[in-house]
Amino acid sequence: MVQAVVGQLGGQPILILPESTLRQTGKTAQKNNLAAARAIADAIKSVLGPKGMDKMLVDSIGDIVITNDGVTILEEMEVEHPAAKMMVEVAKTQNEEVGDGTTTAVILAGELLKKAEELLDQEIHPTVITKGYRIAKDEALKILDKASTPIKLEDEEKLIKIALTAMSGKSVEKASPKLAKLVVDAVKIVAEKENGKNIVNTDNIKREKKHGGTGEDTELVRGIVIDKEIVHPAMPKSIKDAKIALLDCALEVKEPETDAQIRITSPEQIQAFIEQEQKMLRDMVDKIVKSGANIVICQKGIDDLAQHYLAKAGISACRRAKKSDMEALAKATGGKIVTNLEDLSKEDLGYAKVVEEKKIAGEQMIYVRECKDPKAVTILVRGSTEHVVDEIDRSIEDAIGSVVSAVEVEKIVPGAGAIEAEASNKLKKFAEKFSGREQLAVKAFADAIEIVPRCLAENAGLDPIDILAELRATHEQGKTTYGIDVFDGKVVDAVAMGVIEPLKIKTQAINSATEAAEMILRVDDVISAGKLEKGPPTRTPEMPEEEV
Ligand code: ADP
Ligand code: MG
Repeated sequence: MVQAVVGQLGGQPILILPESTLRQTGKTAQKNNLAAARAIADAIKSVLGPKGMDKMLVDSIGDIVITNDGVTILEEMEVEHPAAKMMVEVAKTQNEEVGDGTTTAVILAGELLKKAEELLDQEIHPTVITKGYRIAKDEALKILDKASTPIKLEDEEKLIKIALTAMSGKSVEKASPKLAKLVVDAVKIVAEKENGKNIVNTDNIKREKKHGGTGEDTELVRGIVIDKEIVHPAMPKSIKDAKIALLDCALEVKEPETDAQIRITSPEQIQAFIEQEQKMLRDMVDKIVKSGANIVICQKGIDDLAQHYLAKAGISACRRAKKSDMEALAKATGGKIVTNLEDLSKEDLGYAKVVEEKKIAGEQMIYVRECKDPKAVTILVRGSTEHVVDEIDRSIEDAIGSVVSAVEVEKIVPGAGAIEAEASNKLKKFAEKFSGREQLAVKAFADAIEIVPRCLAENAGLDPIDILAELRATHEQGKTTYGIDVFDGKVVDAVAMGVIEPLKIKTQAINSATEAAEMILRVDDVISAGKLEKGPPTRTPEMPEEEV
C-alpha cells in the first residue's frame, strides 16, 4: 500500500524525497481519507439534538469531561489523521463563527463524503462531484434564505426560544428557561448599533464559573464579577456609589533593576531610608485619595503598607486582577485603566452603584454591580459539581452564540430538521435541471442534507425510514416549517413547537461542511514526512491567565 517515492532514470531508481517519507496515491489515498473523515462524523452522530447522548472523555492524566457539545468532544479527542483533522477544523470554524451547530456541521460533512463515496464507486470523477456539490450548495443557501423569516432585537420571546433550542439536550433541562432569559438579557445589554446593524462583541459577556448551588442559581450581573478578594480586613467590604480607580501600576516601591549597593553607616540613615519608602507609598495613596476614588482595582501588587494607608483612608482595594477583567471593568463602569498614578484624575474613575465582596461556595468574589449603562456584563455560572458547571457553561456559550447570530443577521429558520427537509426537497427538484453525472451529484447533496432529521430521529429511538417518508410527504404538501418532534415521535410544525434557530447556523454549517468535503475529495496523493521521535506526552501546568 505504501510506496517509496521513486522515479526512474535509465533503469536507475532516483529518490526525490527522504526514505522515511510515506506515500499513498489514487484510490487508496482517497478511500483512507474518506474513511477517516467519516469516522469522525460517525463518532459524534449520537450527540445530535435534544435526545442526543453525552460523551465522557478521559485524557491521559485522568481529567474527565462529560459533554454533549460536538466541538468540545472533537477537541478533546486528540485526532491525528490529517483528513480527520480537517473535520475537526469544520467544528472549530463553526464554533468560532457561530458558537453553535458544531455537531450539525460535522455530520453534514461526513454525509457529503459518504454520498460522494457512492458516486466514486460508480466511477464518477471527483471533480464532477465537487462541481455538483458546489452548485447544490449555492442553491441550498438560496433556498434557506428564502425560507427564513425576520427577527428583531426586540423580539424577546423568539430570542428566548432560540436560546432554549440551543440549550436543549445539554443537561440543564430544569434551569434552561431561566438561563435562556438570562442569555437574552445579556445579549441585549451589550448589543450596539452600527450603521443600523446590531453588533455584539461576545467578549463583553464574561462568564465566571463557580461550583456549588444548582444551575438555577446562575445569575446575570449588570457589571463584572471578579474572582478576587478585598486585600485588607480593615477595608470596607461593601461600597455604595463606588468610584473605581482601575490601575495598571503597582502600589509598591520598585526594586532597582540593576544590582545597586547602598552603604548605610548610621542608624539615622536607616531611619531616613525607611521614612523615604513610607513617604513614597503615602504619596501614592494620597494621589488616589485626591482623585476621589473609594475603591481601587489594581492589576499589579499592593504593598502591605499601602494597603494600610488605603484602609485608613476608607478606600477598599483588590490586587492582581486579570487583564481581561480590567478591560471588562473599564467597559462596564466607564472607567479608564490608568498606567501611571501621576495621571490619575477624577475623570478616569469608573462608576458602579454597588461594589461588594460576597462569599460564593466558600470563596470570596468581588461584585461590581448596577453599573450605569454597562457595555459588559457577567454571567456567574453555577452548578452542583465542576463537571456540571462546565457543561452548563458550554450550553450558555452555545445559547449566546445562537442568539447573537440571530440578532446580527436578523433572520431565523425552523429547527428540528425542518429547514434541512425543506432544502432537501427543493434541491431534489432543482437537480432535475441537470443531466447525467452532475444531476447525480446534486441529488447526492440533497440526500446528504437529510442527515440532520435522520439523526434526530435515530437519536430519539424513532424509525428514521418511516419518519423521513412522512416528513418528505409533508414538505411536498408545502408545509415548509414541519420538522420532527423528538419527544412525541411525530412530524409537527417546528415553529409552533418553538424550535427555531438563526439562519447563520445553517448557512455556516453548509458552507464549511461542503468546503471540507470538497477539499478531502480532491486529494489523491498523500505524502507524509516520517514521524519525529516523540517522548512521552508531557503537560505543563497552565499559566494563570495574563496574571502579572
Ligand atoms: P449542534 O452542535 O449541531 O448544535 P445539538 O445537539 O445542539 O447540535 O442539536 C441541534 C439540533 O437539534 C438542531 O437541528 C435543532 O433544530 C434540533 N433541536 C433542538 N431542539 C429540538 C427540539 N425540541 N425538538 C426537535 N429538534 C430539536
Ligand atoms: Mg446546539
